Amino acid sequence: MPLRLDDISTGYGGHVAISHATLSIERGEVVGLFGHNGAGKTTLLRVLAGQLPLWKGAREGRWDGASRAPLAALVPQDGLVFPTLSVEDNLRMGVWRQRLRSAELRRRVEHVLDLFPQLAGMLKREGGLLSGGEKRMVAIGRALLGEPELLLVDEPSIGLAPATLEIVMERLRRVHEEGTTIVLAEQNMPSALELVDRFYVVRQGETVREEQAGDFRDRDARELYALI
Ligand code: ATP
Repeated sequence: MPLRLDDISTGYGGHVAISHATLSIERGEVVGLFGHNGAGKTTLLRVLAGQLPLWKGAREGRWDGASRAPLAALVPQDGLVFPTLSVEDNLRMGVWRQRLRSAELRRRVEHVLDLFPQLAGMLKREGGLLSGGEKRMVAIGRALLGEPELLLVDEPSIGLAPATLEIVMERLRRVHEEGTTIVLAEQNMPSALELVDRFYVVRQGETVREEQAGDFRDRDARELYALI
């Protein structure tokens, strides 16, 4: 059984952000959530992260055979890098609750540095001094420090130069190859289609379409954007 949201609605205060959304995530997949600003992508990621209660509908929160919901980590759109903390401390924030032994913590930081070698030389630098691309890498690295089974990534393309975006997407591919299930909210469909297996179109709080990515990879950008 996949993780599943079945005709859910939710929102903030009195504001309805999601009205009819149905989606499923199989273990090991990379699933895209594509839509314009305000369509509800971030809200769906928060539901998948267990951060928002449902108003209506049902949620199947476990994969087959699992005794609990998968460990999820959300990489927020704005990256949320603490400007006065060093890069290393920013990374460690991802596991501050877990009280890891220092050898284990070091192993996990090394793994993130293996993924993003350019961060290795800037561990002592203040977060506020990083470029947009470096901040994005720290934000992803921090989420990975918790070794999530489900990585929820909110619009990693925003504000990144094409070359940096390519690096970030390539590293997400590696994270997936290492066994992490990924949900990717994006507006940049041409870039996201390189990574996702399947995607949903989210429009005005509803999932209006579900497609296999392979059927769309050769389409031109204009045709792709017409979908959302
Ligand atoms: P974007 O790409 O702009 O982040 P999105 O597709 O991720 O858009 P959401 O952020 O999920 O969309 O927003 C869905 C709706 O919920 C929007 O109408 C938005 O204004 C509203 N919303 C989001 N966060 C809050 C909040 N904390 N309080 C009130 N309304 C919110």
